Amino acid sequence: MNKDIFLSNSLGNKKEKFIPMDQKKIGMYVCGPTVYDDPHIGNARPLVIFDLLFKVLKCKYGNKSVIYVRNITDIDDKIIQSSKEKNISISELTLNITEKFHDDCKYLNCEIPTHEPKATENIELMVVMIQELIKNKFAYENQKHVYFKVKNFKDYGKLSNKNLDDLIAGSRVELSDKKENPEDFVLWKPSNDDEPSWDSPWGKGRPGWHLECSVMSKKYLGNTFDIHGGGRDLIFPHHENEIAQSVCANKTEKFANYWVHNNFITMSKEKMAKSQGNILKISDFKKKYNGQVLRLALISTHYSQPLDWNEKLMDECQRTLDKWYNCYVPVNKKILIQDNDLNPLYDDLNTPGFIAVLHKLYDKAKEGNQEEKEIFTTACKFIGLLGQSKEEWYDFKKQNLKLSENDILKKIDDRNKARDKKDYELADKIRNELLDKGILIEDKDGKTTWKIK
Ligand SMILES: [Zn+2]
Repeated sequence: MNKDIFLSNSLGNKKEKFIPMDQKKIGMYVCGPTVYDDPHIGNARPLVIFDLLFKVLKCKYGNKSVIYVRNITDIDDKIIQSSKEKNISISELTLNITEKFHDDCKYLNCEIPTHEPKATENIELMVVMIQELIKNKFAYENQKHVYFKVKNFKDYGKLSNKNLDDLIAGSRVELSDKKENPEDFVLWKPSNDDEPSWDSPWGKGRPGWHLECSVMSKKYLGNTFDIHGGGRDLIFPHHENEIAQSVCANKTEKFANYWVHNNFITMSKEKMAKSQGNILKISDFKKKYNGQVLRLALISTHYSQPLDWNEKLMDECQRTLDKWYNCYVPVNKKILIQDNDLNPLYDDLNTPGFIAVLHKLYDKAKEGNQEEKEIFTTACKFIGLLGQSKEEWYDFKKQNLKLSENDILKKIDDRNKARDKKDYELADKIRNELLDKGILIEDKDGKTTWKIK
C-alpha cells in the first residue's frame, strides 16, 4: 500500500508522517511490564495498541521488516518489596508473574514481539553504559551510587516539556545526600545483603530502572531507532531519563524519532492505578469474557484519549462480537483488505474509525455471498478479532453458561407445562429467565429447541 502512516508524536506534540530510517529494518521499542504483581487492564491497553501498530507497520513494510522489542523488568525496588510482602523468592515471583503476563498476552490475542529481553540478562551491558556516561562526564559516583548529572544534558525535559526548576519545585525528585543536585537520578545503587546484586566497578549492586530500557533498546535496535512506545505515565521521568542516558552515552543527536504514548484507563473518570486501589486484573475477566471482548473494548477509544471503563462497554463489545460471529467464515486464501478500508488505521491508529469500517463490512456480508463474508472475516482478523473459529467462540460461551444442560431442559419442560395450562405469564417469565442467562429458546413444529444467544 502506498499510503503513508501518520502517528501522534509526543516529541513535539503533533501528528506526523512516519518516515522510517530504513524501510527494511523498522525498530519499535515498547516498555514492558515490571513483573511484581498480576497484570491489570491498565497494562493491557499498551499491549493491544502496540500489537496493532506492529501489525499496521508489517502490513505496509512487510512482515520481516519490523523489529518489535518489548522488555521485561525483572529487577526493581517494587519487585524486592513485593517478594518480601508475599514471602516468596524474587525468582519465583518474577517467573510466576512473567508467566501470567504471557498468558494474558495470549488471552488478548497479541503477537509475540521479535525480542523480549529480560533486564537481569543484560546487566553487563548496563555497566558498560554507565562507564560511558562517566567517561563522557554525564555521570558521577558517590558512595557506591552512580548518578546521572541532569544539568550537563541541555535537552533534558524536551519530551515532557518540563524545565529543571519545575522539576525541583514539583518535588518529584528523590532526595538524597549522595546526589550533587536534587534532579539527578540513579544509574547504579548498592544492594542490601538479602537483595539481588551484580559485580560492578562501584561494588556489588543493581541498575536503576531507567537504564534498563536504554540498554535493551540499544542492544536490538541500535543507538537511534524509529518508534518508542509506552503508557503516558512513563513520559516523565522514565522516558525523559531514557533519552538523557542514551543520547549522552551513545553521543547521538536522537534516541527515538517517534514517541507514541497511549492514554490512561479511567474508572468513573479516575485514573486506574494500583495506588488508587481501583484496578481490575486481567485474570478477573477470564472466566466471564472471551479475550476478544476485552480486546475490542480496549480499542474502542482512540489510544490518545482516556478510556473510561464500565460493564456496559464490555456488554456492548460482547453483543458486537456475537453478531459478527454470525458472519464468520474460515478463510483459506489470501485476501487483501481495501486501501480505503485501512485508511483509519494508517491515520494515527484510528481504531474507532476502523471499527466503523468493520460494521459496514458486516452489513454487506450479512446479506452477501461467501466472498463478502471472507472479506469481513479477514478485516476482523487483521486487528486480532474473530481469532477463534465459530466453534471455539461458542464453546467458550457454553463453558460459561450459568446453567447446566439438564437445568435448561428442566426449565423448558416447566415452560411447556405452563403453556399447556395456558399460564402464558409464567411461560414468558421462564423464557426471559433463560434469555438473561444467555439461552435462546425457539418453538418450531411443536418442538422447543435451545441455543446459546
Ligand atoms: Zn522503559
